[in-house]
Amino acid sequence: MQSFLELAAKSIFESHNKNDLQNLQVILPSRRAVFFFKKALSELSESPFFAPKIESIDDFILRTADFTTLDNVDLYFEIYGILSKIDPSQSFEKFMSWVPTLLKDFENIDFSLVENPHLLFKYMSEADALSRWELDNDYVFTPNAQSYFSFFDRISEVYEKLNEKLLKDKKCYRGMVYRKVAENPDWLISNEIKKYYFVGLNALSKSEEKIIETLEKANMSECIWDTDDFYMNSQNKAGKKLRGYKKSGKFGKWNFQNNHLKNSEKKVRIFELNNDSLQSKLIYNLAQEARNQRHVIVVLDENQFLPLLLNIPALQLPFNISIGLPISSSHFSEVLRLLIGCYQNHEHNDDLKIHNSVLSKISDNQIFKSLIINEISLDKFELLHTKIRASKKLFYDYNWFINQGLSCDLLQNFFRKGSALDCIESLEFILGKFFDIQGSDFSDIEYVFANVLKNKLNLIKEKLRLGIALNLKSFSALIEDLLKNERVPFEGDSDTPLQIMSMLETRCLDFECVTILSFNEGNLPSTKKTNSFFPFDACKIFGLPLYSDQDAIMAYHFFRLMQRAQTLNFLYLNGASEALGNKEKSRFIRQVEEELCIYNPKIKVSYPSINIKHSENNKSGSDIIVKKESLLQITDFLVNKGLSASSINDYLSCSLRFYWKYILKIKNEDELKSQIGTDVFGTIVHKVLENLDKPYLDSKNPIDKEVLQNQKNEVENQLSLIKNEHKSFDFDSGMNLILISVVKKIIEKYFHKRESEFVGNFKILGIEKELTSIQAISNVELKLKGVIDKIELHPFGLRIIDYKTGKVELKDLHLDKENDLAETLLNSEKSKLRQLIIYYFLIFSNKTIMEKDFGLKIILEDLQLVIYSFRNLGADISFNKNMFTHNEIIEAVNLLLTKIVSELLTTETCFVQTQDKNQCKYCDFINVCQRN
Ligand code: SF4
Repeated sequence: MQSFLELAAKSIFESHNKNDLQNLQVILPSRRAVFFFKKALSELSESPFFAPKIESIDDFILRTADFTTLDNVDLYFEIYGILSKIDPSQSFEKFMSWVPTLLKDFENIDFSLVENPHLLFKYMSEADALSRWELDNDYVFTPNAQSYFSFFDRISEVYEKLNEKLLKDKKCYRGMVYRKVAENPDWLISNEIKKYYFVGLNALSKSEEKIIETLEKANMSECIWDTDDFYMNSQNKAGKKLRGYKKSGKFGKWNFQNNHLKNSEKKVRIFELNNDSLQSKLIYNLAQEARNQRHVIVVLDENQFLPLLLNIPALQLPFNISIGLPISSSHFSEVLRLLIGCYQNHEHNDDLKIHNSVLSKISDNQIFKSLIINEISLDKFELLHTKIRASKKLFYDYNWFINQGLSCDLLQNFFRKGSALDCIESLEFILGKFFDIQGSDFSDIEYVFANVLKNKLNLIKEKLRLGIALNLKSFSALIEDLLKNERVPFEGDSDTPLQIMSMLETRCLDFECVTILSFNEGNLPSTKKTNSFFPFDACKIFGLPLYSDQDAIMAYHFFRLMQRAQTLNFLYLNGASEALGNKEKSRFIRQVEEELCIYNPKIKVSYPSINIKHSENNKSGSDIIVKKESLLQITDFLVNKGLSASSINDYLSCSLRFYWKYILKIKNEDELKSQIGTDVFGTIVHKVLENLDKPYLDSKNPIDKEVLQNQKNEVENQLSLIKNEHKSFDFDSGMNLILISVVKKIIEKYFHKRESEFVGNFKILGIEKELTSIQAISNVELKLKGVIDKIELHPFGLRIIDYKTGKVELKDLHLDKENDLAETLLNSEKSKLRQLIIYYFLIFSNKTIMEKDFGLKIILEDLQLVIYSFRNLGADISFNKNMFTHNEIIEAVNLLLTKIVSELLTTETCFVQTQDKNQCKYCDFINVCQRN
């Protein structure tokens, strides 16, 4: 079946002499439709010809008016400039909270050609409210209500002054330029263009209607609609606007009303699913099945893109995504937020320090990390990481980096104090470094985002240089708005058989197979309301778009997309899972079941039971699988970064988590917290103990019972010092107050335990001791590493200590002599035991160096490996290594490493989700996996 755009192109092409085509103008709803129309037109002639002017309606209007559209940043400053003269008390931060809504309303007022906008603002005033609500004239509104009414008086003035100013400068916002073109018919008539074709439009704004009517009256236009008897000859909402246009006759003769929905055969499959994961699996099968067809997957919720993108590459099909992504999707946005956050923190603080959680976010940010490596080298970056980890400091100043010989201009920007303009300069410095890196691995989309950001910052900088005052708080509010609301069009190869799009992007396009995801009531039609200052009655009276119009527009897009499709897959979630809440299938699916199928018996609806065929690599039945395209990244990780007890635990618990966390290095996005979390809690405990022990490590003085008593008495003081360092947390109230008192209690309890088990003086030989060992396994030089919390020298030998702020029980270290130790080490539930055994292995591998360092002989048989679990200090938790010989332990670790490394270094295995959902409970990726 020919697509609508092919038919429209053919109709125009055949209605004119080839030489006259260049005197035509074709106007389509979107640039994507322009692309496909041009393609269809080019295929109609074997010989070259001068094509008509073909543009999207936005491009056509802008060119006709010869106005420049202003960026939202420009508009915000223009509006604020006007408003602050009318109301100097208005702060920029407060202004930023409502100006995006105001701008949307200004757009709608102009698109809808509201005759006298001041009447609309007056309608919202106090006097009008009194009469509308039939209140007595002496009724007194509350101060809040009065300030609400006076807001509209000011806005009325702002609207007028903004229009005057923009008009004078030949600048505009979108709605304004449509109004100007509609109100100036002579701008439309050009000597070059003999006829204007409007193709595939629907739900025209009043200004668009007026523009077309003007041309129609001059006998210069023709509209080609894409409509169907089903909704044109019934009361179906999809045809609401179009029936009106046809009846009025104001747009000339009615073109292209077909009856595909009545006559064509269609296979409609409705899949009821009880969770999102099943949906991801099903897409894989449906896309495989439609691989030889033009297939569109319509995504109704942009949050679904990430899980979808993780699955689609496994299809090995070329695909294209058409969606506008907010700038916040860029990795750069995190750098932006962190930098502004640091500037804001330093604003009222003279000690320019940053918290370790901020520092790790900075150095883990994919883009920023590459920039630092480029500046200081990979080795230095690794060293920096190691030092940060070993230091266990909570706050860092820039001198610390200088003292470590690791100064870095990029990082220094986070330790600056200054104005919004200084902050922009820091951001520009970082962006500059990004653009300077040649041949980097950054994706194209990151360059697009970076360019957009660069332009926005330039704009803001220009405004600041003109003397506009913007403090850091206001600057942050402005950037937040840009990150959230500015969208960057994301487009790849436009003509691949598989397209992934939003519903709006499907305008004018036709596909043989259509798959709609999460086709639930609320998603389509959407229940998301566009914010407006005007209530329903004001919109109705003044002809502004109504919320109900949105339903009709979406109904049209849906039924139009059905017209030429042969196979339609509707996937909806039934809400059986508690987390999904009460879900219902979309009313549009019901219309297909209850109306369309009766109207056209050739439409066969089925409700297939779901039989998921796993891909070849998905024998595990996992929802998300990641095939190993290349082993380079994994080898690099094993050799340079190395395996540790934690990464091995992650791998054995869920290989997908391991992949995301260690190979892709994706970190959980934490906000700067005011309340200390488990990470900070653990760090404080470690830090207090370190500070108390450090003098005894340095002096090598023995520790006796009195020292332990003194250390216990010193806990309170140490906590005060740490509280002083962590000024960003309020430790004097709320949960932090409770947590800090828990820290004090558990550390005192720890010293109490140490006193009670005291058998003789001991020395501290190491704190946070990092050990590494290189093992040749499967042709790679595997790095195995570990950081031991504390090493003590007792009369009986060395005690290796691991602190755990969580609860560890005796059973966690329980061993059965009957069971093979190597098998036990592969058990994901034996993480604590595995950690101690890996420490044993590392000490064995580093024995000679350690003996030299400590100046003593290490007897491995005497080694004591213990865990102090601060939530279970009553228990003596240690590894009973005497159950096994030294060789058995070393062999078991070797087998464990060999198994993991060989599994990692083969493309025959994939990274898959764990089947044990208990592992997901506290996983950072729980939302991506939709296991919550
Ligand atoms: S949520 Fe579960 S399946 Fe997903 S990565 Fe985490 S542990 Fe693995």
